[in-house]
Amino acid sequence: MEAIVGGFEGDLKELREVFNSGKTREASWRKSQLQGILSLFKERESDIFKALNQDLGKHHVEAYRDEIGTVIKSANYALGNLKKWMSSKRAKLPLASFPSSAKLVPEPLGVVLVISSWNFPFGLSFEPIIGAIAAGNVVVLKPSELAPTCSSLLANAIRDYLDNSAVKVVEGGPHVAQSLLRLKFDKIFFTGSEKVGEIVMTAAAKFLTPVTLELGGKCPAVVDFISSSWDKKIAMKRIIWGKYGACGGQACIGIDYILTQKKFAPTLVELLQKYIKNTFGDNPMESQSIAKIINKKHFLRLKGLLEEPGVKSSIVYGGKSYEENLFIEPTILLDPPLDASIMKEEIFGPLLPVITLETIEESVEFIRARPKPLAVYGFTNNENLQKKMISGTSSGCITFNDAIIQYAADTLPFGGVGGSGFGRYHGKYSFENFSHEKAVMKRGYLIDFGFRYPPWNNKKLQL
Ligand code: NAD
Repeated sequence: MEAIVGGFEGDLKELREVFNSGKTREASWRKSQLQGILSLFKERESDIFKALNQDLGKHHVEAYRDEIGTVIKSANYALGNLKKWMSSKRAKLPLASFPSSAKLVPEPLGVVLVISSWNFPFGLSFEPIIGAIAAGNVVVLKPSELAPTCSSLLANAIRDYLDNSAVKVVEGGPHVAQSLLRLKFDKIFFTGSEKVGEIVMTAAAKFLTPVTLELGGKCPAVVDFISSSWDKKIAMKRIIWGKYGACGGQACIGIDYILTQKKFAPTLVELLQKYIKNTFGDNPMESQSIAKIINKKHFLRLKGLLEEPGVKSSIVYGGKSYEENLFIEPTILLDPPLDASIMKEEIFGPLLPVITLETIEESVEFIRARPKPLAVYGFTNNENLQKKMISGTSSGCITFNDAIIQYAADTLPFGGVGGSGFGRYHGKYSFENFSHEKAVMKRGYLIDFGFRYPPWNNKKLQL
């Protein structure tokens, strides 16, 4: 472990020298790196498909949609907007400072560390890298060891396609991450769990390094059966997709649980079952359309959630698990105990509790009484309920009548609040995340007021 710190200290010194050389500040360098990312994703597409299938059992269509396609879109968006983002903006000044002018100049932060997660190993590594490069930084990436084929491909491909003097990958697990955290970076961008987020923030505090924490939480979906104008068929398809369709439920903004009116719960459960069957067939494991659970530890954790008192008896659909394939069926639970772990911890898997309430308005208080989620979803066209949900709950984002889709919008900031993290990125927010907006003021010598200078006397106060 010490050897890694010792070894990497030298690399960090070199990376800082590269940053200080000014190379990464050049627009031409930033563009060449963004183009390098585009080439990497085009030319290594089949390797990426294979790695995502190997580590996560992701179908290549899902892999393209969630990782390759979104990264290509984001890199193109950054390329198209780079000139605008890099340009300084004029700022107004008070009359008292006449004659003078001012502007805001974005400057890169320096050498930044990106620590990423395994569930979208390419997307969650490259989205921050795109922002860091666009903003002119030098980058060190530490991908997750839990997706080893993806981690190794990231390391090889980044070495082949990007400027290796300024963008480096360090592979490894918690020990390697902690070794890196003992060094001084100019920014740390972390995606992962709340528990490790605390470790990252504590380590960063020692150097007063700014951090962005992209964490998780329990994202609720409020399903309002009294909504007058909703398309149940589309809503059910989107709910099923929002739960099981992105990395088999192992997604930070995937639906964690549903809140609905008690009297409609049987209808909802019936509809959910119908659309699960429509989507994944009678044998979901054979559909190849649901990613596997990342590893045995998480598989056993999910199984354990189902085995707690009162939880097993609440299963109304699915529930079978296949350890050799690390696969758990899409599972629906009706009113599991609220004090069971399944309702207290982030599920991060294909288990979907449906919690019933007398009225749908109670959902606002239900959500407010719990830690702030990364996303809140509302399947309703009832504008009053929408307003109550927007103003009565706090979350990183709120989306009505769909799920997860907000992640792909370059114009929307993505990030958490409270326990789901802080700091935001995507599109120009990624550029801002890795920049400092420096206030630059220029004064002239034409006018000068004596009252601003000592020695002080009361006459100067009267002026
Ligand atoms: P994790 O916190 O276990 O690991 C994340 C990263 O931290 C990995 O690179 C890992 O190697 C490193 N790490 C693990 N233990 C460490 C330690 N003790 N010290 C230093 N570094 C350590 O999280 P995970 O299992 O990769 O991901 C699951 C969590 O991440 C969930 O809570 C999920 O909601 C969240 N997540 C959030 C987002 C988001 O965009 N907000 C995206 C994906 C996942």
